Amino acid sequence: AHLDRIGAVDGAVHAFLHVDAEGALAAAREVDDKRARGEEQGPLAGVPLALKDVMAQRGVPTTCGSKMLEGWRPPYDSTVVTRLRAAGVVILGKTNMDEFAMGSSTEHSAYGATHNPWDLDRIPGGSGGGSAAAVAAYEAPLAIGTDTGGSIRQPAAVTGTVGVKPTYGGVSRYGLVAFSSSLDQAGPCSRTVLDAALLHEAIGGHDPRDSTSIDAPLPPVVAAAREGAQGRLDGVRVGVVRELSGEGYQPGVEQRFHEAVDLLRELGATVTEVSCPHFQYALSAYYLIAPSECSSNLARFDAMRYGLRVGDDGEHSAEEVMALTRAAGFGPEVKRRIMLGTYALSSGYYDAYYGSAQKVRTLISRDFAQAYEQVDVLVSPTTPTTAFPLGSKLEDPIAMYLNDLCTIPSNLAGGAAMSLPCGLSPDDGLPVGLQIMAPAMADDRLYRVGAAVE
Ligand code: GLN
Repeated sequence: AHLDRIGAVDGAVHAFLHVDAEGALAAAREVDDKRARGEEQGPLAGVPLALKDVMAQRGVPTTCGSKMLEGWRPPYDSTVVTRLRAAGVVILGKTNMDEFAMGSSTEHSAYGATHNPWDLDRIPGGSGGGSAAAVAAYEAPLAIGTDTGGSIRQPAAVTGTVGVKPTYGGVSRYGLVAFSSSLDQAGPCSRTVLDAALLHEAIGGHDPRDSTSIDAPLPPVVAAAREGAQGRLDGVRVGVVRELSGEGYQPGVEQRFHEAVDLLRELGATVTEVSCPHFQYALSAYYLIAPSECSSNLARFDAMRYGLRVGDDGEHSAEEVMALTRAAGFGPEVKRRIMLGTYALSSGYYDAYYGSAQKVRTLISRDFAQAYEQVDVLVSPTTPTTAFPLGSKLEDPIAMYLNDLCTIPSNLAGGAAMSLPCGLSPDDGLPVGLQIMAPAMADDRLYRVGAAVE
């Protein structure tokens, strides 16, 4: 049924870069055969899922939305894929994304933009716009995204779906193509909070193959979602981040956000305003740290080891082949980030730029730590606006970067965060996202509060 749905709507939505009908049907048949034999099944047996094209899946094209990796088929499975298979999940295919996960609209994909199913002339968010659009368009009930600065939550907000960035280190990065290793985190996309929890539980937990994976039991996310669904939040302390609403936010977004806060209060939560004074520097720090790490991580695309190779005709030196390949293989946003990062890391500038950004990162972590002395979770709008028209911010990188104002702080601090729908904006009838943030390894709080207000 989901393959049929993809056939019917994906021509217009373009959520998928590759549909693996054969692999999906084989996996579904295996679930049926196991059932016929009376064998024990995984917890998500037979449930279809869309996989962001940044995640390695053995034998299936993995492009990261880039010409650089066109035609590359990984020889191994990422840990997320291994765990999905063990849970019985049926992987439908790979979803569109901004090239190497850099962007907020999916327009930086080398394979064309994804369209927001709510309004095909608008962006589905990014970088994981394909995953969010697939879920919003009923092409898949579940999807995997990755969130370095908001790429799960911002697409969730603008497509009216649920997206969770788990605690940094909570889901393995093994087999996830690296953008900014100290920030990248994979997580679930879904239509309900409980669905996200079930997927989170299937993919999360310690993995010795990822050196930053946390060696501790996964927080009880499914139990928390079920508890939250009872609809009471007595004793839960909620902090509204003063710096993440007000001026500059779309009035309809503000209105729905304040209604969500009122609802939290009605359900029994205590709501207070909390100040995080250093959040105003989060965006600037992120756009030094993420490009710096990207410039280092993307050095591996040297035309020798992976994917594209240009100019290998006996007339060019190895250095020329590398330069020609990188010139042809990377798009403008990736090149901009590599240049920014290389500059910020170069000697003489390192302390002024990268060093300062790391200090700001510490100050932001302290803001969070102080806030969590007073409250259990923090809330804000997920994005300052609803989905904007395709093309409207493509020529202005700063305007594009401003989409991540509310999501970036929790990436820098390594905590957990969720976006869930909180109604349609009265301005334009488009979905608005509520962001809930929790300390590292307290992901269960997101699910308790999220399931209560959804
Ligand atoms: N939009 C942000 C960026 O362009 C975040 C991307 C992400 O989370 N992968 O870097």
